[in-house]
Amino acid sequence: MVKKSCDKCPAEVEFKVLKKIRGEYHCKDCAKARRLVRREETIEKAGIKDELKELDEKIKEQYKQTKRKDAKKRYQKNKPAFKKKKIVSGVPVPKGSISGKAKPRHVSESYLGFQESQVLLSILVKRGMDFEDAKDEIKRIKETLKETRESMKEKNKSEDQIKIKMQKLLEELWRS
Ligand SMILES: [Zn+2]
Repeated sequence: MVKKSCDKCPAEVEFKVLKKIRGEYHCKDCAKARRLVRREETIEKAGIKDELKELDEKIKEQYKQTKRKDAKKRYQKNKPAFKKKKIVSGVPVPKGSISGKAKPRHVSESYLGFQESQVLLSILVKRGMDFEDAKDEIKRIKETLKETRESMKEKNKSEDQIKIKMQKLLEELWRS
């Protein structure tokens, strides 16, 4: 009976039951343990991928909507007759418009929500960043978004302009 030891543990087993995986001999137990670890890794990667894809689509959709709104506004601005007609006919002003009696709608200050932060956190950790460092990094990103938003507000930029800028910053973030 030809015996050989497992490359992963000190077990001495029959050569024919050893499994060769990537050039290394594994006993039954070590092969099983490796399979389990690999499976977990695959699931984890797939999970992150799905989350990222979902997030990417969400951001793209929001960006598209902002662009659509912007185009609509430009159109109305460049067509005074159209605008006048709309107001005269009593059609409600678009949401977000500061004209009319409608109160300005509350706009979320946080463009990096809880879920987004969590995904970003896991990406940074996966890339090898220390967990505490990753948390600080996210804090810094949120701070940057907030500061950018405030400075744009001071310059009297519209909510739509701010939104577009925020989306761009976030898109750059996911790409980097
Ligand atoms: Zn073994």
